[in-house]
Amino acid sequence: MKPVLYIVIPCYNEEAVLPITAPLFLDKIKELVSLDKIDDKSRIMFVNDGSKDNTWDIIKNLAKQDEHYIGITQSRNRGHQNAVLAGLMEAKELCDITISIDCDGQDDINAMNEMVDAYADGCEVVYGVRSKRDTDTFFKRFTAESFYKLLNSMGAEVVYNHADYRLVSSRVLNEFANYKEVNIFLRGMFPLVGFKSTSVYYERNERIAGESHYPLSKMLSLAFDGITSLSIKPIRMITGFGIFVALISLILLIYSVVQYFLGHTMSGWSSLMVAVCFLGGIQLISLGVIGEYVGKTYMETKARPRYIISERTYDKE
Ligand code: UDP
Ligand code: MG
Repeated sequence: MKPVLYIVIPCYNEEAVLPITAPLFLDKIKELVSLDKIDDKSRIMFVNDGSKDNTWDIIKNLAKQDEHYIGITQSRNRGHQNAVLAGLMEAKELCDITISIDCDGQDDINAMNEMVDAYADGCEVVYGVRSKRDTDTFFKRFTAESFYKLLNSMGAEVVYNHADYRLVSSRVLNEFANYKEVNIFLRGMFPLVGFKSTSVYYERNERIAGESHYPLSKMLSLAFDGITSLSIKPIRMITGFGIFVALISLILLIYSVVQYFLGHTMSGWSSLMVAVCFLGGIQLISLGVIGEYVGKTYMETKARPRYIISERTYDKE
């Protein structure tokens, strides 16, 4: 039996690029069907992430043009990760395998053939990995690569140079649905679910049209979220640092007592200032990091819905 494939595509303010890339996805589905790799019931599922432009109208029109196009919309903008999650959770009931991919044509859709083959060979998760970043600017490449290194060194295991282009079977998604956390970082969570997995390499292209929604500031906050939702290593590091500083101050304490008895107590003002400022700074950073975890715990205890689908281009039975 051939698998039913759902391509899940998050779209936020993408009216410039969607009319260009949508037919490419359709051609890919038709090619895979004609190669007998997937069933003709396969679909391209657009997830409109509360766009402020015409993206949702474009999706609705596409759905009228060809039955392979379907769409859902979130009640408001919730961010890329939540949009992908909404699509995957919706799709898992309707298909055998999903492939999540951005809608801007940056990820090579031809890698899908290899992904589907890997599934046929028994892999339940197939990570799309960028083989090189020639088309990115030096700055983007440097920041993106530091991003993966930082994540891994902080205890959030992610596949190097893998973003959110991946094949996941509905079997894995059914298990994944039990990961109830509100702070989601998909690329770090699928490795936790396990199952047989592999990687497929592809070259990343330039965005076909429109602009990136991930400037440095958003990338930093994604890295921070990724680390704090997957690992508590930063808190451990603070503890370790605290122990280190405490040991040094013990030595300083002995030193100052000795100095007192030797009658040299007026000197040393500058070293005192340095120590006060340095420790003050460290304490504030530490409080900030711990506060981040307290905040995350707060959001988790509320257990608010992770996505709200307000409209579909099809009837959900
Ligand atoms: N996206 C989304 N919600 C957002 C921001 C982005 O669904 O709030 C989608 C966007 O439409 C695109 C994908 O996420 O399909 C990746 O965004 P982008 O291409 O801007 O990021 P980059 O590839 O530059 O990292
Ligand atoms: Mg992009």
